[in-house]
Amino acid sequence: MYQAFLIKYGEIGIKGKNRHVFEDALVLQISHALKPVDGEFEVTKEQGRIYVTAEGDFDYEETVTALTRVFGIVGICPMVQVEENGIEQLEKDVLAFLNSVYPEKNQSFKVQTKRAKKSYPMDSMEINARLGECILDAFPDMRVDVHDPQILLHVEIRNKVNIYSEIIPGPGGMPVGTAGKAMLLLSGGIDSPVAGYMIAKRGVTIEATYFHAPPYTSERAKQKVVDLARIVARYSGPIKLNIVNFTDIQMYIYDKCPHDELTIIMRRYMMKIAEHFAKEDHCLGLITGESIGQVASQTMQSLAATNEVCTLPVYRPLIAFDKNDIIAVSEKIDTYETSILPFEDCCTIFVAKHPVTKPNVNIIKRSERNLKEKIDELVHTAIETVETVLVEA
Ligand code: ATP
Ligand code: MG
Repeated sequence: MYQAFLIKYGEIGIKGKNRHVFEDALVLQISHALKPVDGEFEVTKEQGRIYVTAEGDFDYEETVTALTRVFGIVGICPMVQVEENGIEQLEKDVLAFLNSVYPEKNQSFKVQTKRAKKSYPMDSMEINARLGECILDAFPDMRVDVHDPQILLHVEIRNKVNIYSEIIPGPGGMPVGTAGKAMLLLSGGIDSPVAGYMIAKRGVTIEATYFHAPPYTSERAKQKVVDLARIVARYSGPIKLNIVNFTDIQMYIYDKCPHDELTIIMRRYMMKIAEHFAKEDHCLGLITGESIGQVASQTMQSLAATNEVCTLPVYRPLIAFDKNDIIAVSEKIDTYETSILPFEDCCTIFVAKHPVTKPNVNIIKRSERNLKEKIDELVHTAIETVETVLVEA
């Protein structure tokens, strides 16, 4: 029945002169998202509207699912597009639409016409009345309800006529590719995939860095992170993932530093190395899944100590989220089931029983002096031996 979709976008609509940049990015992201879908599609932009038109057969459910993952879209309207051939023809087209979409035809309705073609001989009020009357004549069990109709029938008169009644919610946000790039510190946990999703939703292109510690962390644990990146990539587009071997650095810190400071010192080195890759690829910031007070390494004091090594801004979209709220997002975006698979993380393996909860940066820096002999060389090696994979949905 449906052969096309009208795409509604939100915040892009309020952009001024560079609005076309955002629209073009949205068209591009929609095209990317539809590539794996069964069917041939054309994505077009005209008169402040974006249309997805299927050429021939296509998988409706798959198409809608793909579109609900494109940031920047607020509404997906399956529509019928007909030629503009006068009011009598429009009456027939509207009845045909109702016939095929609503077989019961006993609902309340309201016609909402938008007349973008100003040369049309009737105004929108007149068209509403005329179409409403014709629907009542054809389907006696239907009734008009202008306040809370079950069917809100949109009729848009442009060069052609768009008829639709359903608006499927999109994810909102801004099209990826309109806001620069950032480096996500991606672990196998619940939080960091959600953090990456949230920043990507604002139009930011995402890269990621994962630290593992073989043989203490397994191949399965690494695969889990790749799988998480793949799920996030459904929304963000392809993610370049750096996999860094952190074992020697971790062992060295374990040897040389007080054990209650391990997590903080490790985290500081993770940030430094992630920042190295970030700068190399012109990222404008780092992203983590930290939230105030969630664990010892995320108290305000710990966050300050971690932050202190970074020169790029660190974006922490979950900073004020409760764990339950984070879980709710991870369930919505489908990362939760993967995140809770019980594989070891490099942070949990060397973790102290009683980590400091209020680290003092000066004391941490003093402990780090114990590392001066070998740490630069180890960091250098970790960077040199990075494994990089492009993860696609
Ligand atoms: P998550 O669920 O994201 O793992 P968490 O609650 O386990 O978070 P921490 O282990 O303290 O919290 O990690 C805080 C943040 O540091 C993570 O959200 C992530 O951004 C980063 N991080 C932690 N471990 C790693 C890792 N092995 N590789 C890359 N980033 C990491
Ligand atoms: Mg973790």
